[in-house]
Amino acid sequence: MVELVPGVFAGPRLRQSNCYLVHDKTLTVLVDAGMPSDRQEISRWLSESGWRLDAVVLTHGDVDHRGQAAQLASALGAQVWAGSEERSFLEGALRPRRLVRRVMAQLMRPVAVDRWLDPGAEVAGFAVWHTPGHTAGHLSLVRLADRVVIAGDALVVGRQGPIMPRSWLNEDQEQARASATRLMAIGPSWLLTGHGPPWHQPRAD
Ligand SMILES: [Zn+2]
Repeated sequence: MVELVPGVFAGPRLRQSNCYLVHDKTLTVLVDAGMPSDRQEISRWLSESGWRLDAVVLTHGDVDHRGQAAQLASALGAQVWAGSEERSFLEGALRPRRLVRRVMAQLMRPVAVDRWLDPGAEVAGFAVWHTPGHTAGHLSLVRLADRVVIAGDALVVGRQGPIMPRSWLNEDQEQARASATRLMAIGPSWLLTGHGPPWHQPRAD
């Protein structure tokens, strides 16, 4: 178990995307659930780690994050939580604007979500921020006390540091840019994204 920052652990190494385990006095949650084929890998990792999971929190509804969240959660006696604005996408009612997203959406099964998170909700010491653009209901988790950001696909960490996901992957590029700017404006000490390594920036002051 690699504790990246207090209370935030790197999830199992998956092929497509990252997931994280977030833990405080009140809750233990898995942030994102990889690809559907990653379910067993994640289950195994969780059982080896000995954590008792309260919820799987989805940053957004893409296939490489929603995985088999509902099946994973229910097997562990946990719930699935996601952003309230992502509801139509997760329930299969949304027709995405981007072609690549429409094709992907046809491969995805609806997810049964137990709790819809509104902006400002608190999850294990993190605040829920609505960070739309990559998808309409994308959320990020922000812990302002030590400026730790779990950004899903609102940002990607490349070789040079944080960048935006490719524009053709974003439902709304203007919104995506605004969300990325908002997240970077807090000067993250740690930025943990769905793709790319953890990015750490000691504060200059
Ligand atoms: Zn995505």
